Amino acid sequence: MEAKHDVLILGSGLAGLRAAVEAARVSNDTLDVAIISRVQLMRSHSVCAEGGTAAVMRPEEGDSLELHAWDTVRGSDFLADQDVVWRFVGESPKEIIQLDHWGIPWSRRPDGRINQRPFGGHSFDRATFAEDKTGFFEMHTLYDTLQKYARVTRYDECYVTSIVIENGVFKGLTAWDLASGKFIFLRGKALVIAAGGACRMYGFTTYSLTATGDGMAMAYRAGMPLKDMEFVQFHPTGLIPSGILITEGARGEGGYLKNNKDERFMERYAPSKMETAPRDIVSRAEMTEIIEGRGFEGPEGLDYVHIDLRHLGADKINERLPLIREVAIKFAFIDPIEQPIPVRPAAHYCMGGIHTDIDGATLVEGVWAAGEVACVSLHGANRLGSNSTAECLVWGKITGEKAARYAMNGKKLPDIPTQKFRDEEKRVFETTGNGDGSESVFAIRTELQRTMDHNVGVFRTGPDMKQALDKIKELRNRMRHVKVVDNSRIYNTNLIAVLETTNLIDLAETIVVGGIARTESRGAHSRTDFPTRDDASWLKHTMAHYNPAGEPRLDYTPVNITMWKPVERKY
Ligand SMILES: Cc1cc2nc3c(=O)[nH]c(=O)nc-3n(C[C@H](O)[C@H](O)[C@H](O)COP(=O)(O)OP(=O)(O)OC[C@H]3O[C@@H](n4cnc5c(N)ncnc54)[C@H](O)[C@@H]3O)c2cc1C
Repeated sequence: MEAKHDVLILGSGLAGLRAAVEAARVSNDTLDVAIISRVQLMRSHSVCAEGGTAAVMRPEEGDSLELHAWDTVRGSDFLADQDVVWRFVGESPKEIIQLDHWGIPWSRRPDGRINQRPFGGHSFDRATFAEDKTGFFEMHTLYDTLQKYARVTRYDECYVTSIVIENGVFKGLTAWDLASGKFIFLRGKALVIAAGGACRMYGFTTYSLTATGDGMAMAYRAGMPLKDMEFVQFHPTGLIPSGILITEGARGEGGYLKNNKDERFMERYAPSKMETAPRDIVSRAEMTEIIEGRGFEGPEGLDYVHIDLRHLGADKINERLPLIREVAIKFAFIDPIEQPIPVRPAAHYCMGGIHTDIDGATLVEGVWAAGEVACVSLHGANRLGSNSTAECLVWGKITGEKAARYAMNGKKLPDIPTQKFRDEEKRVFETTGNGDGSESVFAIRTELQRTMDHNVGVFRTGPDMKQALDKIKELRNRMRHVKVVDNSRIYNTNLIAVLETTNLIDLAETIVVGGIARTESRGAHSRTDFPTRDDASWLKHTMAHYNPAGEPRLDYTPVNITMWKPVERKY
């Protein structure tokens, strides 16, 4: 089956919806835009974003674009491209106002002005928020705005299996409509990949179950390099035992981190910023407390520290952090008004992703990438909280516009690469999960997650990562023995699990291979065997290229430094 559209948007999270609105808007609704999502549109992971979206909104009170840019560059441990950062800080305030005009219910000050709260690593209160459900309200606002455009088609619950490129030219997507079971070729003149992050390869994580890195893995196999994959963010406050996020807004609103001696231990690690230091630093502090015996014993090795909100009082918790209270009560049976919440670092964000230039363009003509799936090099080695949703909005807009203008520019629809389409249908429904059944995909995924949790976590060493690499290769071999027992094409979650796990294994390998090669500590990549940053050798981006015959091939590109030379990073 075939369908054709001018612009294809792979993903309906914040980046995808913002791109779709922009493509429809710049073309005056003349372009035929399709949004393809493996879930119902509003179930995209972005609805989970809690704490806020960063933007400079109060220059008259002391904030400035320079300050936001400096915070981002310093937070990135100087791996961010500074031209990209500068563009970002200039564009994000416009997106906050744009969403306001489109009707988002931003939380406000008593005088009616848009409110902002402190966030880790930012030296000014610049996380714009809607209670602690910021992503949910942003998604709703974009969804409502999309209703103005008649020529937008939705493919919900449609699982994309490959990005088809022939002779360097983008042709379309192969997709499996989960409700009807049909396999479709989606032809398009231009593509925006907005398929989100990948850290479901970790067991203890804040991510939605669907964040399995499909977009990154498909782009990688189609020949697009992945950049800086070794940099995985661990959020300091994953709830025990589920990993559900306790937003950084909880520390931004004044929450204390405490060890088993009731000490605010951040005094030892970041005396000036305390709990609102950047995430890599707070996560390392927590793990050090736990490793040195000042944590609390948790279930299944999940030892933890406390985040204490009690001193904030019931009114502030109910007004500013209602979701956090609800989550703590429902999932840990703890009311934060009366008791501290048990937390530890949880895999939370991929700083790496599909390599793009400053406009979100990939190396393939007609293909852009935006949001967490992409690595435009805004976050470098460590992202600041609230910069991701802002990035999704800024590069959603940029890529939506670029893709639309490209499609409007007299481009013809590509022909269907019939053989590739047939081969892919065969791969998905016949070859995948056609083993002897001696292995279970769920057991393999659990082993992958345990390995990543234990060997490629907050602290890493060469030997630990080497062990992880051996395990990843073993798991890839064992995947050949997996049998999909469900033969149906309709909502076949067994088959989806096999496709996802294949993707997770490929991406885990890029993280580990990049991490072994990078013999330094920078941002979230913290090696106890190479504890210092080494700018002479490693002030550069890692590029991982797909190599069907073995491990990914690595090469490196320079960091764009325009304003600030790297200095020691202290908080
Ligand atoms: C719990 C939590 C809270 C967070 N809070 C904040 C915050 O307060 N502020 C902040 O700045 N950042 C926050 N982040 C990070 C931020 O939410 C994400 O980085 C961002 O929302 C990612 O958006 P996205 O549009 O790139 O991808 P997503 O929202 O993940 O969307 C991906 C889309 O791709 C689709 N897709 C994926 N694979 C396929 C496939 N094979 N076929 C078809 N469709 C596919 C999915 O269906 C989905 O629609 C938070 C993250 C977490 C985990």
